Amino acid sequence: MILVDDALRIVLENAPRLPAEEVALAEALGRVLAADVASDVALPPFDRSAMDGYALRVEDLATVPALLEVVGQVRAGEMPRGAVGQGQAIQIMTGAPVPAGATAVQPVEMTRSLEGGRRVEIVARVAAGANIAPCGSEVSQGQLVLTRGTMVTPAVMAVLAAIGGARVSVGRRPRVKVLVTGDELVEVTERPLGGQIRNSNGCALMAQARLAGAQVETLGVAPDDLERIAAGVERGLDADVLLVSGGVSEGLYDLVEPALERFGVELLFTKVAIKPGAPLVFGRRGGALVFGLPGNPVSAQVTFDLFVRAALLAMQGASTVSRPRVEAEITATVKNRSGRRAHSPARVMWEAGRLLAHPLRSLGSADMVAHARANALLVMEADRLQAEAGERLPAILLADLLSS
Ligand code: AMP
Ligand code: MG
Repeated sequence: MILVDDALRIVLENAPRLPAEEVALAEALGRVLAADVASDVALPPFDRSAMDGYALRVEDLATVPALLEVVGQVRAGEMPRGAVGQGQAIQIMTGAPVPAGATAVQPVEMTRSLEGGRRVEIVARVAAGANIAPCGSEVSQGQLVLTRGTMVTPAVMAVLAAIGGARVSVGRRPRVKVLVTGDELVEVTERPLGGQIRNSNGCALMAQARLAGAQVETLGVAPDDLERIAAGVERGLDADVLLVSGGVSEGLYDLVEPALERFGVELLFTKVAIKPGAPLVFGRRGGALVFGLPGNPVSAQVTFDLFVRAALLAMQGASTVSRPRVEAEITATVKNRSGRRAHSPARVMWEAGRLLAHPLRSLGSADMVAHARANALLVMEADRLQAEAGERLPAILLADLLSS
């Protein structure tokens, strides 16, 4: 039995970095930048007005209200046709280049247009430089703006669009194959009969892999038969990552390990000091990683999140591979009698200025409903038997914070 941190280290040490590929910007969401990206322009590319108003010289506002002559107009997308001289102003729109001579923009709310727009009364002073974003103040031309390892979010896509990143170099998507094992499993379209249950892990694991950027293929369900499992494993070993669900604990019909060994998969660990999910198996054959995930639904999903997701992100070159962690005040007792690092479902939310974690009642590693209601996992170390309401515990965020 190895510790969670050691297991994660072994997984990451063995996760090969996949080659980069180029994709169109629109396809880059959720991918990981494989190279630093520099801007081909300055931002803003010119001294830009931040307001609709009047470009003027602050020297002309020694006494206010001041009356200025309006000598032109500049709209976003065009260049100013003239300069602002003494006693003059040019009407300007947000996003338009500030004309030469102007030292500030006074917002239209602080002005009164007179004589059909030929003059303007400026009712208040404005500081030099106000409402002007100088050329290059956000980004200079050639500046490295985004670093490799960055996950492409909508905000990153906006930056890429602004700096000319029409094609983006990203880590290749890992190819993941999912093999589900279990005599008891039927498909979602079927009604389970005596002793049967529906295969829920297949669907959850494929979805989790997809959200971690993988291209996913199913190998279907194999019964608990060594030959059938072995046949599935053989078909899965050409993937970057083979996920096998179930069949890794101590039962008579837990046959995944021998099936993996038959094909020369080197098992790097077969038990982790974690709850849920202790029977987690990890191995590799060449560049292919193999995870044998415990069949209990919460165990499968939690070990995926902590280990498989990290591996998939690392393979794509991500610099952050773990979920965000916060510390939250628990609102009820949380126990850990497992002797392993425990993860229990909770709803974490801001309430009255405090980050609170409401522990969810869970029947354990099969209680997928409690897990689905959680947005976080409360972490209790192996030697911590109990934490009381009011104490703080680390929480791994699985989803957005809730608000009360
Ligand atoms: P195993 O890891 O194969 O010993 O399975 C542990 C528990 O998880 C058993 O109660 C199984 O019925 C259940 N289980 C295994 N595979 C799945 C699956 N694909 N979907 C839902 N439950 C499963
Ligand atoms: Mg089983």
